[in-house]
Amino acid sequence: MKEVKRPRKQLILYYAIALAALLLFNLFAMPRLAEKSVTQVDYGTFMTMTAEGNIGKVEIGTNYIVFTDKTQENIYKTGVLNDPELINRLHQANAVFSGEITEEVSPFLSFVLSWIFPIIFFIILGNILSKAFMKKAGGNNSMMFNLGKSNAKIYVKSSGGIRFSDVAGVDEAKESLKEVVDYLDNPEKYTAIGASMPKGVLLVGPPGTGKTMIAKAVAGEANVPFFSMSGSEFVEMFVGMGASKVRDLFGQAKEKAPCIIFIDEIDAIGQRRDGRPGSNDEREQTLNQLLTEMDGFEGNTGVIILAATNRPETLDPALTRPGRFDRRVPVELPDLKGREAILKVHAKRIKTDGNINYLTIARMASGASGAELANIINEAALRAVRAGKEVVSQADLEESIEVVIAGYQKKNSLLTDKEKLVVAYHEMGHAIVAAKQAGTSPIQKITIVPRTSGALGYTLQTEEDNKYLLTKSEIESRIAILTGGRAAEQVGVGTVTTGASNDIIEATKLARAAIMRFGMSEHFGMTALETQTNVYLGGDSVLNCSADTMAKVDHLVTDLIKMQYDKACSILTENRKKLDELALYLYHNETVSGKEFYEILEN
Ligand code: ADP
Repeated sequence: MKEVKRPRKQLILYYAIALAALLLFNLFAMPRLAEKSVTQVDYGTFMTMTAEGNIGKVEIGTNYIVFTDKTQENIYKTGVLNDPELINRLHQANAVFSGEITEEVSPFLSFVLSWIFPIIFFIILGNILSKAFMKKAGGNNSMMFNLGKSNAKIYVKSSGGIRFSDVAGVDEAKESLKEVVDYLDNPEKYTAIGASMPKGVLLVGPPGTGKTMIAKAVAGEANVPFFSMSGSEFVEMFVGMGASKVRDLFGQAKEKAPCIIFIDEIDAIGQRRDGRPGSNDEREQTLNQLLTEMDGFEGNTGVIILAATNRPETLDPALTRPGRFDRRVPVELPDLKGREAILKVHAKRIKTDGNINYLTIARMASGASGAELANIINEAALRAVRAGKEVVSQADLEESIEVVIAGYQKKNSLLTDKEKLVVAYHEMGHAIVAAKQAGTSPIQKITIVPRTSGALGYTLQTEEDNKYLLTKSEIESRIAILTGGRAAEQVGVGTVTTGASNDIIEATKLARAAIMRFGMSEHFGMTALETQTNVYLGGDSVLNCSADTMAKVDHLVTDLIKMQYDKACSILTENRKKLDELALYLYHNETVSGKEFYEILEN
């Protein structure tokens, strides 16, 4: 869609201010400036200087006398007294004197010079300044004169707009929003029967899943204007400005109805008002205004508000009550099929060699969001250009997934041979423990090429299908696989290194979640010991248990991990020969594919 710039009403303001400044300047500053170099003296001084002959030029006005000393470098001024002898004394002192000199300047010219010329000058200055400010503010003026204006980016109908077909893998969300599109297209159908559309729709989900995109697609499909603004843009330095921006935004939207208002990151203004210290008056006023505006317009005016957030639990209940944002549309991370569809949508923008298996790529990118998948496609295209190729191949895409997961390959690795061998054992440990347990995902690739993210190597497992549930034994196998790296160092090289630090963190997280959240320990059963608060943003959690219980949990976590570590050690000891053989193979080749790995392991 095309963005439209707002009319530059504020220019008029600039002119008004320039004019006021000019008036003040003329009134106060000019006379003072003119007087600056003139010294005021009393009449006595003037008389003494005349008597001493220390006098140059003299100009006698109606109520002032301006004179210079003999050198004519200093100018003095004094008042006029009734002094009939003055002319004689001046003559005797050889002064050059005259009455008031009024230069014959035409009144028109003087008017032009003192009024019209400065006005034109200030108008031009105002114009240049306002252009410079607008440029600085990215064409979206946010300077002082614009406080209280909404600054919303306005997009109007255009044929190049985003459509539902551009947003892939979020079919449920699209389905719920199709009704909104239909309503905007055809409001009579709804009003005839007495139905009214929800005024607000809340799009919730993790970052990068396409919430902004789908909101734009709704406007694109319905062919209506789209007002877009981020929640944080409402919050200003001065209390009341945000509220006035909300009024302005709704005012504009009502003029353009039917239309869509999109508020991104609504949690910036919509947070629960709980009067805690640190709560912000400006934010609360803005929220109150938003609530009032939403109540103020009828359901059938044709203005629909879409808002996006990844922290729905922090929103004020008043905002989510029926009649406001009463419809909630989840926009979740895409599943396997969704990932494949998103990859295909974005692959349309690049040239490929036609032999791409998108399903494989989607499998490898498990857990990736739409934005990450778009990034993977772009990375692959960049990689192809770097290699001097004209089209993108499967290998480019696979490598770009690794770049997104683990960073770029480090060109000048500083690993010694001994270290490289330890890393080879470590990675093979993960792979063998994974392969020797039932029900684990197959190995796709093992590599010991160091990455810029700091990883010295990694083992890539890919899920065959979507996984929505994990069994207790699957969690245990995952912990065993994570401990497999350290176990292989112990079994194969006879020493342990710092290389396992990341595995340790992951294994602990998993074990703790199994006990505290998934009720998988016999000791505590189904008691919730912690609750997750921030589901879409990494999942912060709050403890629901006492310090005593926590100490017991720590024991259980340690036991669980220890048990799995022992299991990993025994798997590797049983397969010691294969471990040596595969570690050496990896040491020499640096990268081993899943196929090679299984061939060596099974023969
Ligand atoms: P959000 O608002 O949820 O954080 P965005 O809508 O801003 O995410 O998405 C960022 C980018 O990611 C989009 O511009 C698009 O290129 C890509 N993207 C995300 N989700 C999808 C999707 N479902 N289909 C296609 N592209 C997507």
